[in-house]
Amino acid sequence: MDSVPPVVGADVSRSRIPRNTRSRGPDRPYPTGADAGDPSQKAEQASSPVVDMNNEHTSDSLPPQLHQLIVVGGGVAGCTAAMYGQRYGLDVVLLEKAAPGGQTATASLVENYPGFPGGISGFELAQRVHQQAQEAGITFLTDLAKALLPQGPCWTLQGEVDSYCAQAVILTLGAAPRRLGVPGEARLLGHGVSFCATCDGFFYRGKRVAVVGGGNSAVDEALYLTDIAEQVYLIHRRHELRAEAYLQERAFARANLEIVWDTVVEEVVGQAELEKVRVRNVRTEQVSDLEVDGLFVAIGHAPQTAWLEGTLDLEDGFIVTDHLMHTSQAGIFAAGDVRNTPLRQITTAVGDASLAAYSAYQHISALSEMDVASLMGQG
Ligand SMILES: Cc1cc2nc3c(=O)[nH]c(=O)nc-3n(C[C@H](O)[C@H](O)[C@H](O)COP(=O)(O)OP(=O)(O)OC[C@H]3O[C@@H](n4cnc5c(N)ncnc54)[C@H](O)[C@@H]3O)c2cc1C
Repeated sequence: MDSVPPVVGADVSRSRIPRNTRSRGPDRPYPTGADAGDPSQKAEQASSPVVDMNNEHTSDSLPPQLHQLIVVGGGVAGCTAAMYGQRYGLDVVLLEKAAPGGQTATASLVENYPGFPGGISGFELAQRVHQQAQEAGITFLTDLAKALLPQGPCWTLQGEVDSYCAQAVILTLGAAPRRLGVPGEARLLGHGVSFCATCDGFFYRGKRVAVVGGGNSAVDEALYLTDIAEQVYLIHRRHELRAEAYLQERAFARANLEIVWDTVVEEVVGQAELEKVRVRNVRTEQVSDLEVDGLFVAIGHAPQTAWLEGTLDLEDGFIVTDHLMHTSQAGIFAAGDVRNTPLRQITTAVGDASLAAYSAYQHISALSEMDVASLMGQG
């Protein structure tokens, strides 16, 4: 195996634990596309300990700076992985394509995250997590990750704005719930329309709700809601469910669960709050209104991982990991909603993320140890 190029902040000759001596704080932002043309920036980069991965370092084409850990995604999983990485003494950079916060920032009220009796708004929770990561000294960069390429024992991450190189990469890209795309859905999100029964079902005690979908998660959510709501409708576009048999049996046996077969949602209706759902029977073409207080859309999640096809093992687009968040490639880890997991919650995202940082640290330490061995002529 190639010897590992010197890493920013690592002192491998003295310790297995890489040091973080060159993290860029928020006051010293990493050059992005906006300032990449600034000659003073290039001069600063050229005089800094930049690693020349190809031995083709010219003043016109600077190679990417080598970091120990790059985290992609600034949701709760990404911020947690970055903070844990930082606490392991790693040089960490976090890449986020938009504003940090991820899906959590869109949750109206989070009532199932420990430590907040009475709940906390998703926006505030996301803000707090981001602030905590900033206070820990994590460098946040705005860029859209587009490709991952092996570079000896390291990985080059190509972004829309810049390229980055790291000994380990943690992917926390999240997954967006699939939307129906019908009129009223977006406007009434958080006002009767929800994508998560575990999160929002509590608000519908003794009320009438509908769930859309026919797979495992839709039936699971419908069953969960039968213990809370007075009446649950499961709206499904076909005449048979895709959910596993044991779930179907339970659904058929539940007295307050009615399956509305061969039906699609045409419109979500309400002024300030959801009032009814306009549905169409695809066999008879008959349109009718279903009066409900809550509508739970459970037609799956869509991970944004097309750019990783061919690089990592994916399952329905989700990144396949083991229980320590290793992916199919050494040095690449995944955490949170983007991985193949049966539960996508804030608690599971932060748990995954801390394990991913642990595994990334182990990986980086092993690389450093190999380098020590080669430096000592024992490699
Ligand atoms: C409306 C709503 C309400 C919810 N309520 C609750 C609740 O009450 N309790 C609960 O436990 N869970 C709730 N959830 C689920 C919870 O929000 C998610 O499980 C959690 O946010 C997952 O965190 P994550 O960091 O894995 O992913 P995300 O929060 O999705 O973050 C992923 C981040 O990665 C970024 N990203 C993606 N691709 C790239 C790329 N190529 N380059 C750079 N950046 C990229 C995205 O912009 C995003 O910021 C809710 C979800 C929604 C949508």
